Amino acid sequence: MIRERHLFGPGPSNPYPEATRALAEPLLGHLDPEFLRIMDETCEMLRTAWGTSNARTLPLSATGSAGMEAAFVNTVHPGDVVVVAVNGLFGQRMTDVAARCGAEVVSVDHEWGQPVDVDRVLAAHPSPAIVAAVHAETSTGVRSDIAALGAGLRAQGADALLLVDAVTSIAGIELRADDWGVDIGYAGTQKCLGVAPGLAPFTINDRAFARRVERPRSWYLDLGMLGGYAGEAGVKDGGAGQRTYHHTAPTAMVASLHAGLTRILDEGLEAVWARHQAAGDALQSGLEEMGLELFAAQGHRLPELTTVKVPDGVDSAAVRRELLERHGIEIGAGAGAYAASVWRIGLMGRNARPDAVLLVLAALRDVLG
Ligand code: PLP
Repeated sequence: MIRERHLFGPGPSNPYPEATRALAEPLLGHLDPEFLRIMDETCEMLRTAWGTSNARTLPLSATGSAGMEAAFVNTVHPGDVVVVAVNGLFGQRMTDVAARCGAEVVSVDHEWGQPVDVDRVLAAHPSPAIVAAVHAETSTGVRSDIAALGAGLRAQGADALLLVDAVTSIAGIELRADDWGVDIGYAGTQKCLGVAPGLAPFTINDRAFARRVERPRSWYLDLGMLGGYAGEAGVKDGGAGQRTYHHTAPTAMVASLHAGLTRILDEGLEAVWARHQAAGDALQSGLEEMGLELFAAQGHRLPELTTVKVPDGVDSAAVRRELLERHGIEIGAGAGAYAASVWRIGLMGRNARPDAVLLVLAALRDVLG
């Protein structure tokens, strides 16, 4: 029997109870009409969560990193210039993935803990094919201004596609893909969506789809073939109804995402964003009242993921171990060079609540003594 944990790290978070319960419902076949309804509704709810009307919006059957691979492998033609804003681990990962897809990568490096500098990114290359950035850098707890990046690209009259990582932002903070000019986006289920890890909500608009690689190096992530699988608007074939078999849809996971999204949209997306903001604000002021110092630049802090400097002389790993053993609370270590000097505390999805704030603050006080 696995003991329940409070998952207050950088993800996964504790799922919404509705999402967990859905996993215990009877399993459906991937072409069952009942499942196709669930899939259609899931794609529709994802459009709301993304702030898009893109027909090609679907949950890819893999984690967020596969969303990242799908984004690049479908859009990078050999030798394309891809400008990547790097202000943390996931921006770094983007440079690796883009390079493997044949891009000439222009990496715009930032100090970790700082948001993306839109002007530097816009000035990095005169005519990139793609500009990529992470909306919510989970490695540092920083929010970057994707609206400003999209507006900047439009103001330049740039033809570049805007590719955005929304793994830790979707259903946690404001996200408006269409209004902001996002052409391609990917996310994950295990953070603010409050569902177990395993799916990558993905969206691509017509402009980006028209410029896609016809025969990408990845069969599994080929968006041209996935349209029929998800039953995207306008895609018809001779298969079951309007569906083609591409791979066996993880039907239980899609049902769980459906339940999580229903829960979120019942509460109201903006109310959910406000709940994350309130929890993050309360946590961050509570930590500062304890004399702890926050890592992410002020004014750019994510409410759903707080980074804290480990005080001098404190053993970071020992504190995390004590939290887990004594209080059943998981928090994260820092990422990269900050592994031992920063903690990452996530209050995502169901955990973005006042009682979770009190719990983690009290437990930290107890362990730090
Ligand atoms: N991008 C960001 C911002 C993330 O936080 C993560 C995971 O933490 C990923 C990408 C990769 O997602 P996954 O670990 O689900 O493959």
